[in-house]
Amino acid sequence: MRARPTPPTLGTVTVTKGCPAGPPVHEHRHGGSPMPELFIGGQWTAAADGEVREIRCPADGTPVATVDEAGAADAAAAVTAARAAFDDGPWPRTPAAERGRLLLRVADLLERDKDTYARAESLDTGKRFVESRYDMDDIANCFRYFGDLVASGNDGRVVDTGQPEVDSRVVYEPVGVCSLITPWNYPLLQTAWKVAPAVGAGDTFVLKPSELTPHTAILLMRTLTEAGLPDGVANLVLGAGGAVGAPLTTDERVDLVSFTGGLATGRRIMAAAAPTVKKIALELGGKNPNLVFADTDFDTAVDYALMAVFLHSGQVCSAGARLLVDDELHDDFVDEIVRRARAIRLGGPFDEDARSGPLISAEHRDKVEKYVAAGLAEGAVLRCGGERPDDPRLRDGFFYLPTVLDECSPGMSVIRDESFGPVLTVERFRTEEEAVALANDTVYGLAAGVWTQSVERSHRVAARLRAGTVWINDFHPYVPQAEWGGMKQSGVGRELGPAGLAEYQEAKHIWRNTAPRPQRWFE
Ligand code: NAD
Repeated sequence: MRARPTPPTLGTVTVTKGCPAGPPVHEHRHGGSPMPELFIGGQWTAAADGEVREIRCPADGTPVATVDEAGAADAAAAVTAARAAFDDGPWPRTPAAERGRLLLRVADLLERDKDTYARAESLDTGKRFVESRYDMDDIANCFRYFGDLVASGNDGRVVDTGQPEVDSRVVYEPVGVCSLITPWNYPLLQTAWKVAPAVGAGDTFVLKPSELTPHTAILLMRTLTEAGLPDGVANLVLGAGGAVGAPLTTDERVDLVSFTGGLATGRRIMAAAAPTVKKIALELGGKNPNLVFADTDFDTAVDYALMAVFLHSGQVCSAGARLLVDDELHDDFVDEIVRRARAIRLGGPFDEDARSGPLISAEHRDKVEKYVAAGLAEGAVLRCGGERPDDPRLRDGFFYLPTVLDECSPGMSVIRDESFGPVLTVERFRTEEEAVALANDTVYGLAAGVWTQSVERSHRVAARLRAGTVWINDFHPYVPQAEWGGMKQSGVGRELGPAGLAEYQEAKHIWRNTAPRPQRWFE
């Protein structure tokens, strides 16, 4: 059974429905608090040009806070602080065991402050409070995993050169100053996947979260400081991608850009980082197929197919948005999906009866609507949803009904592009060969699901799918011990796992000749 969240208390107001009318999560100084929100060189700092941005809860438009909006000058100041902390500060030279211990302290503090974090995340994203609490558990686990990995001494290896007079070692050093740029769908989770290995490796960084969801990043700076991270290691700038994100991808003092977000932005960042040949790590979108073979457990596969696509209103990079179903099963399977999709209750983050929330913004909902309209124009059959709810309770939020488009085909834009909303497309297949060909017919390669009771088939199909993660008879689980990332245009590099730490390290080969003698090469 799913755990019920404890409603957060805001002063005297206990919130159970909708977004709270209580005090904002974070008081901006113009609202009476002395604390600005940019964090540069260990100081809380206002934006150089005095700009601010209002954050509103997408579930009902409630103002959540007003925060500083950085510009290029603030981005440059943050890089200056991170560069100084890397070149002259203690952190890159701190023993790995100590860096690991700090990450474990961060995990403990995140657990202590879990509800504050979860509430901030829910108000920014509109996500159910219970889901934000699950995310916070995952985030603490991520810090714990990297803390243990770093503390266990990933400090290099001896190389056997076959030459007894040579002492040869490969050591792993921090990569330098990292620009960490993150999206709005899992704001702190995507941030943790970068911050934990960067801090563990001994790097310094400038974090730029999505302009729509800044709060948990602000809280994280406080937590890192409380855990004892030296000034200048962690820096935070808030603001728009073009104004403050772009300078972080071109500044020649930055060594690595680690980005999670959309494909179009990823392409732009790859090009922007090229002139200074920065290292890049890209976690981009997905258009993830969920393959259901006729020999599957019907009820379980239906249940997971719904969760695969409608979790967090489809705003999940690994959403199982493309259902590929065996022709033999198609009619019954889709009927049952539609029956259950119609029953999904939408609501705000603190509505305990809701099972799904709003989209992040009006603009994003417009985009989802355009994909559905294009799909219908291209011949898809609307089985449910396809419109905004008419429930007056949801009037002020950016809600969109769970939508099922049947009889889709690979050429449609709703199949090719990531709609990133609660939209399930259905395609039929007749053979295993056809299922694999359809599944791989995409520029993306992030994740895929396979449903079958045949062990042989599951391994055969998993081996042929071009995706960074393949789930067999499951969907969405991940653990910090296992690498996460995309093949093809879903990304470059991996997060999590040992490879997720290696992204933030440079390997250096040190060769010491213990008995040097003249070689007489030129005699
Ligand atoms: P987005 O690309 O619009 O923005 C992501 C971040 O990049 C934001 O902080 C934004 O301000 C910044 N940005 C925008 N333009 C920039 C520029 N020119 N230079 C530097 N920074 C810039 O993505 P989004 O809408 O916030 O997030 C949704 C996308 O993220 C989806 O495509 C989703 O699939 C993807 N995503 C991928 C993963 C993964 O693990 N692969 C995880 C979560 C989200």
